[in-house]
Amino acid sequence: MPATAPITQDLMTIPRKGDPSARPNLVGLTREQLRDALIGVGTPEKQAKMRAGQVWAWLYQKGVRDFADMTNLAKDYRALLAEHFDIARPEVVTRQLSSDGTRKYLLRIAGGHEVEAVYIPEEDRGTLCISSQVGCTLTCSFCHTGTQKLVRNLTPAEIVGQILVARDDLGEWGHKADGKRLVSNIVLMGMGEPLYNFDAVRDAMQIAMDNEGLSLSRRRITLSTSGVVPEIARAGAEIGCMLAISFHATTNDVRDKLVPINKKWNIEALIQACRDYPRLSNSERITFEYVMLKGVNDTDADARRLVQLIAGIPAKINLIPFNPWPGAPYERSDWDRIEAFADIVNKAGYASPVRTPRGEDIMAACGQLKSATERARKSRAQIAAETAAG
Ligand code: SAH
Ligand code: SF4
Repeated sequence: MPATAPITQDLMTIPRKGDPSARPNLVGLTREQLRDALIGVGTPEKQAKMRAGQVWAWLYQKGVRDFADMTNLAKDYRALLAEHFDIARPEVVTRQLSSDGTRKYLLRIAGGHEVEAVYIPEEDRGTLCISSQVGCTLTCSFCHTGTQKLVRNLTPAEIVGQILVARDDLGEWGHKADGKRLVSNIVLMGMGEPLYNFDAVRDAMQIAMDNEGLSLSRRRITLSTSGVVPEIARAGAEIGCMLAISFHATTNDVRDKLVPINKKWNIEALIQACRDYPRLSNSERITFEYVMLKGVNDTDADARRLVQLIAGIPAKINLIPFNPWPGAPYERSDWDRIEAFADIVNKAGYASPVRTPRGEDIMAACGQLKSATERARKSRAQIAAETAAG
């Protein structure tokens, strides 16, 4: 069973292990929390909103990492902030560059845990794929992350921190003359199930969307879920981002095996939650992700059932050729099978781009993420047993 209680650490109160001098991190606080933190160190209440706005702009527009650089604040005030607070990001352990330009960051966070984030440059956009948990409590049988036990939820600071780290690395601070952004889109498709870390993901995305900071449009943020049905409506109401559903099967029998959370919320419940998602229209469509597994979910009948199931929902279908990982119990469908499947979907009126695997040479493709130091791998037998037992 997945953990339902959030285990978000409160960085304001919990000092990092092994570092008794650690000061609370200002990154990842909501505006309200930032204001309260500033009042807590003696900022007069009347000034606090303005000061929070100034600090916010330094953190998220300019990306400063040192209070001394906040030059529109008085020197004494900068010293006060430095004495009490930190501006901390996840530590970049390694950065790998794929031959196709994809960048994969291995990041170390408090407690010595590691997570990955992937930057994917394309012609018209740059997408950063970020993680929401260390590992995942769910055990989708085709997913590498699913073989790693959940270690913990990420904090808002660690989620937003992934965006800051990528912008540091890409040199993207301040305003570009041509208005073109390197990190223009965010997808919550890295490690973890974002809807099982709801509050932290929501707070982090609200920081990402804030107009006086990172100012990413909610339409350029996509949250991917395996189908945590009760939280889908909350995502629509409290985040308002785009939704992607890891659908992957067209019968409950098959989906139970591939995405075991289906035993709790089945295809019918999931589709209903999608129909109820707010603001759906031609320009705001749900993405149905569908991993192509040879001989498992890739027949013409599957393609036809898929379009029947989602009929009436403004939708895109994203076919993902399975990305193998060592010991994976599946194979990628053949290309002619993927094309035949895509053809049926297209004829039914859905755009169905086949997601070109990116960064394969550095194991950065969908579902391949798993931090090297956390190889508490479950065996295939264990996964199969859990899938069967549910
Ligand atoms: N936990 C969330 C988000 C992370 S997974 C979710 O499941 O939606 C991001 C996407 O990659 C999901 O659609 C997931 O099903 C897919 N995926 C996982 N493993 C994969 C693999 N080995 N090959 C291709 N896609 C995979
Ligand atoms: Fe977790 Fe998503 Fe992987 Fe399933 S596909 S195990 S929900 S990360």
